[in-house]
Amino acid sequence: MPRRVVGAEPAEVGPQAPLRLGPVILRNRIIFPAHLTNFAVDGAVTDQHIAYYEARARGGAALIVTEEHTVHPSDRPYEKLIRGWDPAVLSGYRRLTTAVHAHGARILAQLNHNGAQGTGMYTERPLWAPGPDPDPLFREVPVAIGDGEIAELVDGYAAVARRCADGGFDGVEIQCSQASILRAFLAPGTNPRTDRYGGDLDRRARLLIEVVEAVRGALGPGRVLGVRLSGHDGTAGGIEVDDAVQVARMLDGTGAVDYLSTSVGVATETLHLVEAPMSTPHGYSLFVPDAIRREVSLPVVGVGRFTAPEQVRAALAGGVCDLVGVVRGQIADPEFAAKTLDRRDTEVRPCIGCNQECIGRVGLGRWIGCTVNPRAGRESVPLPQPPRVGRRVLVVGGGPAGLQAAATAARRGHSVTLYEREHLVGGQIRGASTAPHRGELLGMVTSLEAECVRAGVQIRAGTEVDAAFVQACRPDVVIVATGARPRRPGWAPDSARIVDVREVLEGRADPAGRVLVVDDLGFHEATSVAELLADRGCTVTVCTSGMIVGQDLGLTLDMDGWTRRAYSKGIRQITDTVIGEAADSGDTVEVSLVDHRTGDTRRCTVDAVVVATHQEPVDDLWKSLSNSMFHVLRVGDAVTPRRAHAAILEGDSAASTV
Ligand code: SF4
Repeated sequence: MPRRVVGAEPAEVGPQAPLRLGPVILRNRIIFPAHLTNFAVDGAVTDQHIAYYEARARGGAALIVTEEHTVHPSDRPYEKLIRGWDPAVLSGYRRLTTAVHAHGARILAQLNHNGAQGTGMYTERPLWAPGPDPDPLFREVPVAIGDGEIAELVDGYAAVARRCADGGFDGVEIQCSQASILRAFLAPGTNPRTDRYGGDLDRRARLLIEVVEAVRGALGPGRVLGVRLSGHDGTAGGIEVDDAVQVARMLDGTGAVDYLSTSVGVATETLHLVEAPMSTPHGYSLFVPDAIRREVSLPVVGVGRFTAPEQVRAALAGGVCDLVGVVRGQIADPEFAAKTLDRRDTEVRPCIGCNQECIGRVGLGRWIGCTVNPRAGRESVPLPQPPRVGRRVLVVGGGPAGLQAAATAARRGHSVTLYEREHLVGGQIRGASTAPHRGELLGMVTSLEAECVRAGVQIRAGTEVDAAFVQACRPDVVIVATGARPRRPGWAPDSARIVDVREVLEGRADPAGRVLVVDDLGFHEATSVAELLADRGCTVTVCTSGMIVGQDLGLTLDMDGWTRRAYSKGIRQITDTVIGEAADSGDTVEVSLVDHRTGDTRRCTVDAVVVATHQEPVDDLWKSLSNSMFHVLRVGDAVTPRRAHAAILEGDSAASTV
């Protein structure tokens, strides 16, 4: 069967090449694939949705595939899910599709039923699944659905597809990937049925094919129908790439499908494969579209942590996919597509794979945001007009807060000078980015620095600023972004053998031998330095008062990688333990470790202790300017130490008011 590509395909396809998807032509090869946003209210599309998707359409994406719309009331795994089965969604659909179409992009709705990958907490109904096995994350035993429920499910997909067409969508995408009852029917490990929906792959795929045919019938020929397939679940009895290729052939053979999208991982058990963190290579899941594309005539979408234009170009030029799906790259920079097409690569504010404000925040039930893009999720909130332009703004401190404040103020028409005490801007991010698998952090500050330069900010590094200096400059506005400094824990005596993580990461301390790393923060600080020192040949133990070392790494999906690497590097982990006291004996440090549950104390002797603990603000300049004649604002860690997203958000907000 010939490929459904219009015109002659150039020898080397670039992102700017149009592509036909069934009845529509996409203006380029970059799409914004489906992902959770948590913007829905009462199951309906909101202004927050509209502004968010519209920003990516305006930014050049050829196709928006929205987050899932559930097709049946039995499915509600989380609160803020779009309820496609509810006719009340229609007016929101129309407003959303009109807004996206106004920018020349196409928009599809993703249809789904999460099956056993959910909870009955919201619906107070049993979960639906092919068999009675619970999902390992939700741990709720589902009901194995019968013919009546299957018919209801198929009808649900068709009805929601029809409603999407009425609402102005260019078509729909059926999810058969991360969290889908259809994938659960496909996978042998979750489909124990002995009826016509269980058995060999042909039979396990029967429900998917029935849904595809019903949806095509509901849509008619004038709308797009895509299917997103998992090509590697990473679970026992899950879908693997050979299964996905066979299913892709079946779907191609129906003649009802216009394109295939791909993914890896299961949204519960192997979520770190779905939304891979910084430690995962770019393009890590391209083997799936590559395998499928060789066997089918349909256009195939590839995904896999694309954060830079050259990665998109390489995937297309390499012929492994026809379209590139970029989620986080377009959350971080809504104009990623336009900049890629225009070859303005250096202007892209890159996604750094931190997963903090997108996946991590959604995982906490909040709406999606982004560490490096303070406007992500806030697109529907208009920025205040600058009260005046051309003011002289002096920013003190070149960490994320200061850089963002300077960039925003300069973009809004002010004359901005940024002073940084060190010889390079970047603040704590520069040191943190030296740890294994954390190098992409640096992109946060290098892109901000470049943005400052483009906006006309004068950057003066290597300059210490005090109140007299500010007085002499006579600015209209001062933004104090002087950061934070390590705080020495009460148990730590004055000893060169007891140092802070920042001293190690910034190259001012180089512990050797047996090293105890104390994790008070539960994030990357302790685990980063533990890995760094293990790589340097140290014998490392990490100790935490928590139930697990680096406990917030679970939210950003870094836990799996850390655990595997810690094991392979021989890093020992001690939990539920606080430091009682420590003493420098000259050659070593004697530390008492107290189990806070039982009070049991044991002693250990190490060559050095590295502490990842809370910091305190560097606010001397702020205090000395508090009674000055200038308009003084304070942002980031200089207010109180927090993570980088707070610094960037605060820098942007403060500069938006001057
Ligand atoms: Fe990328 Fe981090 Fe932003 Fe998520 S929060 S889109 S991973 S930069």
